[in-house]
Amino acid sequence: MEYAEEDYLMLSGIQHFLFCRRQWCLIHIEQVWAENLRTAEGRVLHDRVHDPFFTESRKDVLYSRAMPVHSGRMGIAGECDLVEFQKSKSGVALFHREELYEIYPIEYKKGKPKESECDVLQLTAEAMCLEEMFLTEIKEGALYYGEVKSRQKVVFTDDMRKRVIEVFSEMHSLMNRGYTVKAKMTKSCNACSLQDVCLPKLAKNDRAAQYNREIPEGL
Ligand code: SF4
Repeated sequence: MEYAEEDYLMLSGIQHFLFCRRQWCLIHIEQVWAENLRTAEGRVLHDRVHDPFFTESRKDVLYSRAMPVHSGRMGIAGECDLVEFQKSKSGVALFHREELYEIYPIEYKKGKPKESECDVLQLTAEAMCLEEMFLTEIKEGALYYGEVKSRQKVVFTDDMRKRVIEVFSEMHSLMNRGYTVKAKMTKSCNACSLQDVCLPKLAKNDRAAQYNREIPEGL
């Protein structure tokens, strides 16, 4: 099945969704946005990477920055921070180029490597879009972390690809229903730019109040 273009979701939304489903719903379904220091710093790094004049080539590698990507199969569209096209006999043909190239996506992040799967799955989604666009298989890519200035190799496994498909399919289902999941206070709330809009403490108190109301008198 292919999604219609008007139903495409933002690829980068997978970051919000994996951080907190409600955060994604507030931003992408209810169109609420708030910026805290963390998101602002992340944007500065991205703005630098997303300089369209930065596209260049060195020796056997072509670099494409802020490259638009999409997938009709997953119904998503977005941008890759950086895609390296490395000359290789087993690569794919590119428009106006005689040689063949292997494709290597790189995603830039402000902080340090995380335990959560969000960065790795965003990069996997980008690779899957590129695979669909260039009819090829991409075995690996990399995450670059600004705080520690290091590049981490990511090998795309079948499990990671399956997980990406599941996540976007859940996002499409929520978007179709226009349903915003309820707030649930977690550790993520302290680092969330939407705390003042979401009011997770209030939801927690609401649930406590409802629980108290449901307890019969005298118990
Ligand atoms: S405040 Fe907490 S529950 Fe609300 S959107 Fe942010 S992380 Fe999610």
